[in-house]
Amino acid sequence: MNVRVLGCSGAIAAGSKTTSFLVDEDLLVDAGTGVGDLTLEELERIDHILLSHSHLDHVLSIPLMADSVISRRKQPIVVHGLPETLAALRAHVFNNVIWPDFTRLPSSERPVLRFEPLRVGQRLRLGNHEIEVLPAEHTVPAVGYAVRQAREDAPWWVYTGDTGPNPALWPLLAGRRIGALVIETAFSDREQELARLSRHLSPCTLAQGLGELPPGVPVFITHTKPDEMASVAAEVRALRLDHAIGHLQAGQVLPL
Ligand SMILES: [Zn+2]
Ligand SMILES: [Zn+2]
Repeated sequence: MNVRVLGCSGAIAAGSKTTSFLVDEDLLVDAGTGVGDLTLEELERIDHILLSHSHLDHVLSIPLMADSVISRRKQPIVVHGLPETLAALRAHVFNNVIWPDFTRLPSSERPVLRFEPLRVGQRLRLGNHEIEVLPAEHTVPAVGYAVRQAREDAPWWVYTGDTGPNPALWPLLAGRRIGALVIETAFSDREQELARLSRHLSPCTLAQGLGELPPGVPVFITHTKPDEMASVAAEVRALRLDHAIGHLQAGQVLPL
């Protein structure tokens, strides 16, 4: 399984795109601005989208990509998310004001998008992938995901989604073979108060969480604001954590 990082930034600027991961060819995890780098042919092959939560930096490419592939898709693209996430998309995006309701277009019988609710703890099989829905702690209802190739011994790719300190997550990862953990660190410790209010991590709360993780798991930091990259990197280095820690880059591919 390959996870291609389309975007992993907390905001936009030249070279910085917001969160989106393409797992193999058919599964998109979050749909931030990075999706705009895919060709029409690549967009057309996406059968499922897993959403972590309703914030714009994670959903804004869904309405645009639905428009791009509407005449090419034979089956709807299935958008999976918490009921609250899907309700927010219906009310605030696909409301025929901001964007047409693509769950009824080109026709109600054969729409280009279909919404499918999920819940924390649920296990799903989508194409060749096995998915487990993980808890997250954010300002709106949110989840993370563990994804692996549907094979007993395959390693998991774990993505935390946007989250503040999340004690419920770590016991769920214990004993699991994790090929890569992608964990958010949106702010530097200098902005710790902002991180607390917006329910994101900064290096000190990242370190507390990773203290619960068995050693040897490759860790990749994501969702840092472009302006905070240098401070976050310096603060994480200064913590001298036990794990191999990388900073995710758009365009990177994680082989699992
Ligand atoms: Zn968010
Ligand atoms: Zn976000």
